[in-house]
Amino acid sequence: MAPREPTIDARYVDDVFTGRRRATREVRVGDVGIGGANPLRIQSMTNTDTRDVRGTVDQIEQLADAGCEIVRLTVPSIRDAEILPEIRAELAKRKVGVPLVADIHFTPNAAMLAAEHVEKVRINPGNYVDKKKFEVFEFSDAEYAEEIERVAERFRPLVLRCKERGVAMRIGTNHGSLSDRIMNRFGDTPLGMVESALEFLDVCEAENYYDVVFSMKASNTQVAIQAYRLLAQRLDARTTPPGGTYPFHVGITEAGDAEDGRIKSAIGIGALLEDGLGDTIRVSLTEHPVREVPVAEALADRAMTCWREDEGRGRIDLDPHFTPDPYDHVRRSTKKIERVGLSIGGDEPVRVELDFGRVEPSGVAAFAEDRAKELAKSADLACESLRFALDPERDDVATFLSSLEASGLMSPVAAVLPRLPSSPIEALLASDRLGRWVVPAHPEDADEALARAGELIAQTGAPIEWSLRAPFGELAPLVDRVLAASGGRDALLSCESDRANHAARILSSRLREKGAEHVPIVLRHTADPSHDGDAQTLAAAIDLGAPLCDGVGDLVSLSGIAPADRAIDLAYRVLQGARLRTTRTEFISCPSCGRTLFDLEEVTARIKARTDHLKGVKIAIMGCIVNGPGEMADADFGYVGSGPGKITLYVGKEVVVRSVDEAQATDRLIELIRDAGRWVDPA
Ligand code: SF4
Repeated sequence: MAPREPTIDARYVDDVFTGRRRATREVRVGDVGIGGANPLRIQSMTNTDTRDVRGTVDQIEQLADAGCEIVRLTVPSIRDAEILPEIRAELAKRKVGVPLVADIHFTPNAAMLAAEHVEKVRINPGNYVDKKKFEVFEFSDAEYAEEIERVAERFRPLVLRCKERGVAMRIGTNHGSLSDRIMNRFGDTPLGMVESALEFLDVCEAENYYDVVFSMKASNTQVAIQAYRLLAQRLDARTTPPGGTYPFHVGITEAGDAEDGRIKSAIGIGALLEDGLGDTIRVSLTEHPVREVPVAEALADRAMTCWREDEGRGRIDLDPHFTPDPYDHVRRSTKKIERVGLSIGGDEPVRVELDFGRVEPSGVAAFAEDRAKELAKSADLACESLRFALDPERDDVATFLSSLEASGLMSPVAAVLPRLPSSPIEALLASDRLGRWVVPAHPEDADEALARAGELIAQTGAPIEWSLRAPFGELAPLVDRVLAASGGRDALLSCESDRANHAARILSSRLREKGAEHVPIVLRHTADPSHDGDAQTLAAAIDLGAPLCDGVGDLVSLSGIAPADRAIDLAYRVLQGARLRTTRTEFISCPSCGRTLFDLEEVTARIKARTDHLKGVKIAIMGCIVNGPGEMADADFGYVGSGPGKITLYVGKEVVVRSVDEAQATDRLIELIRDAGRWVDPA
């Protein structure tokens, strides 16, 4: 087989403006179907030693009881594969019928044996035959083709056995573990990830084996989103196999734990599901696997609701280029709008705003004092803009603003008007606190009224944010009309919608079509009052993080999340999760599995406690040296289990301390951070 030349086509799903599910074939994993008309399936993975039959079966049972529909377990060696019949027998005794997936890295022999006892085998194209030693070399096309043939020879027996037994297969590429061969030809890129998987698919299809599911996982949310999209586009460009194209298993790997793990997962998985991509999901958290299940269920419920609602929705007939390149992160090139010390758009970081809605002027002093106290708790994370609903016809706006200032709320204010202004707004002409006016625009507003509002706002000297309130089908014409009403003056756009990601895409695409790509977009998220805790976190992460990963959004504005310090903290975590703005340490920690050599949860907590003030430092905590170094992506420092009670420490991709006792490993890690000049003492 000759190496394939890449072809890039930006259309990766039928309609990027609605959440219709991508149609796929059904792949059966035992009694559970993935893709086709099946619901989105929930998966997780055990983190016990597979040879500990009792512990493994206990955990599989717990996962099944928690709602996990497919369970994966690591099979690192023949001895682990040999234990599978015992696990099956014990599960049968306990009447646990959940299908099992054998997770294979580096060991084709174990895969062959495991295929006799499980419903699905997961192979990693980066290490099924190839190795990753970070070697640099160059292949001629002929040599590359020979290498692919060598891979095919080793892989074909597994394909044939899976076909014979009706066992499904996941071709699961990981960004961090691309083989040296792929890295040298395609680089550490979404294209490399896709090519790596398609080489294996070629072998499957040559044997008429189609029970294949794909994954393209990465710890970097942007890379994962781009890789899945590119895979969808590349699969569409191939001959469709009988029964339809292949389903996707979607996940973000090494997402970490706690809120950051949930945020990263929600951004990556949520963005893909809103594209209609994904048939089964796993949320990889550095926590007990049972805790992954409710997070996955929440993401799945939201996606399936979106798919259901959009099934009958008409197509939005716009240029699909809502982002300059759906396979690469390119931020929209907008004009910087500066006013009273706040710059939005251009090359400014994405700004953070809290929306407090309507506060009666009579109560503003007490309100401002309380919010100022809350925000003081996260003083290092600035609330850069305050949004209030104000009515200059009723309110003493000047007193309102000075009350904020008296309590220490000094950020510029975005004043949301209740209606289009029709007479001059004098109260604020001289204010040095007013950042911008937010003016609601509806499809039923007359062009003259919009134009008059634009002129009246211009007279105040502050920019206008048009807040569009329209069904999706009427958004694009409304964009055209508010652009006309702005008369070439500085303006921003936002949209009030419970589908913030798709709304932002429509705005972005229409602005591009109208030659107004320079207009900054404000991303709005309004919390559902019935949500709290994780549900609130996940929704904000998807609404804001998904467009940010696509380079859409110059300011994020959050509403309905309390207290204010939580809202600010959440906003900055989402910005970091989308890799847009770094305000804290980045932890890349594996979810742990049967290979794990130390207590990942405990060690992650210990390292976090000592390093989570190191802004911008990336620390990887990986359970094993077999996969860990390959998977820790672009971490600055790595803490990797290399034997029972032994840790190997990395700076970048280089081993710097080999097999230190676990008891000393955290101190040694901190020494390395100091030696690299990246340490600062905690405040
Ligand atoms: S890096 Fe972690 S999750 Fe991956 S194989 Fe090693 S222990 Fe398992």
